[in-house]
Amino acid sequence: MHNKSLSELSASLQSGEFSSVELTQHYLDRINKHNAGLNAFITVADDHALQQAQAADLRLQQKTAGKLTGIPLAHKDIFCTQGLRTSCASKMLDNFISPYDATVVEKINAAGMVTLGKTNMDEFAMGSSNETSFYGAVKNPWDLERVPGGSSGGSAATIAARLAPIATGTDTGGSIRQPASLCNLTGLKPTYGRVSRYGMIAFASSLDQAGPMASSAEDAALLLNEMAGFDERDSTSVERDVPDYTTNLNDSLEGLKIGLPKEFFDDGLDSDVAATIDAAIKMYQSLGATVKEITLPNTALSVPTYYVVAPAECSSNLSRMDGVRFGHRCDDPKDLDDLYFRSRGEGFGEEVKRRIMIGTYALSAGYYDAYYLKAQQCRRLISDDFKQAFNNVDVIMGPTAPTTAFKMGEKTDDPVAMYLADIYTISTNLAGLPGMSIPAGFVGGLPVGLQLIGNYFEEAKLLNIAHKYQQATDWHQQTPEAFK
Ligand code: GLN
Repeated sequence: MHNKSLSELSASLQSGEFSSVELTQHYLDRINKHNAGLNAFITVADDHALQQAQAADLRLQQKTAGKLTGIPLAHKDIFCTQGLRTSCASKMLDNFISPYDATVVEKINAAGMVTLGKTNMDEFAMGSSNETSFYGAVKNPWDLERVPGGSSGGSAATIAARLAPIATGTDTGGSIRQPASLCNLTGLKPTYGRVSRYGMIAFASSLDQAGPMASSAEDAALLLNEMAGFDERDSTSVERDVPDYTTNLNDSLEGLKIGLPKEFFDDGLDSDVAATIDAAIKMYQSLGATVKEITLPNTALSVPTYYVVAPAECSSNLSRMDGVRFGHRCDDPKDLDDLYFRSRGEGFGEEVKRRIMIGTYALSAGYYDAYYLKAQQCRRLISDDFKQAFNNVDVIMGPTAPTTAFKMGEKTDDPVAMYLADIYTISTNLAGLPGMSIPAGFVGGLPVGLQLIGNYFEEAKLLNIAHKYQQATDWHQQTPEAFK
């Protein structure tokens, strides 16, 4: 059961080959067997899942089921789920049970999907390795000594080990695409505003965007169909029709113009990863695409710009975690100051504190112009680079990450080395563009992801470009030996 695509699962459920309860139980059994070794889930929602599965079976019997009714999934623990703990992988929210569902969760529930549980992640989505979680690091199913990427590392490990057929993730600077790359998955970060952020615990509000993490482009398209859409509760969500993302999956790529930014193939890129990406590009040429070198001259500014904007926004967003309005409260506070100091001191991990300090500094009077304002100006330069590029090409391609999955602990003492893991993904968030990572091969037994970046609201085109490649290759179908 656990190697079927969403369409196959849907067909089996509709024909009665197995029920949603049976399918859900199958995944719960797999989680039970493998989660201790991977640490991919923070919360497993057995009872909740089986109840949802029963309701789905009823819809299937009554023929009121939709395409995804009865199919299980996992949610990153950043999405508020009514009645289920939502921790954001922080001690701060260890005991937080949301009184409402995030819009994404609400929509997916309405589609009749079954929530298996909440996946591990970097604390408040800050990280590229899933090592900053209060609940411990997640392991990469391809090599248990290596990281799965972050911050959606739990969702990535879950799908790679087939503990769920699909999952949600969020991407502020690469957190869907980079773990997808490191775990051999298809991950899509939609255009900023395409998917509602309501009920998604905010990290950096002008960058955060939710999207599907899947085994294939077709599966990702099916889940995006349910996730996308205007939401009046998110003032930055865009009022624009949601197409059926599966309609154009098979369009021909004849004449597709691919741009390869020279800045994405610089010295920082591992040479074996580069060779894998070259081979993927050749495959696209054989499918009818043409290739041209382009330049995104301000790429080098993206990491420093992001590490002003994201901490600034997070310092503001996380101020609500004060032990009064939200979050962990220290024992026996002496007075109000002591309550704030100790609650926040005890509740937040090291990386989160580092970012709050950087952000508070960058926003403080006297420094605002030098840092935050400057960063906003750089952000404009970065998005103008893309605008220029899309005058000449249909899609931009390159590596998702500079290396394959690195060893646990390898970068934990060097925040800047960790930040550079997102060097190719961050500019997309700064510009608000959609981006994908798709499996493109292996180096030393570890997956390599190819990144596709599209123009605004061109998710359907990206999915088409990804799907055609997946029709011609079988990288995305490879699964780690221990989890077959
Ligand atoms: N790794 C980046 C960071 O730590 C991006 C995280 C994300 O996309 N949530 O900020």
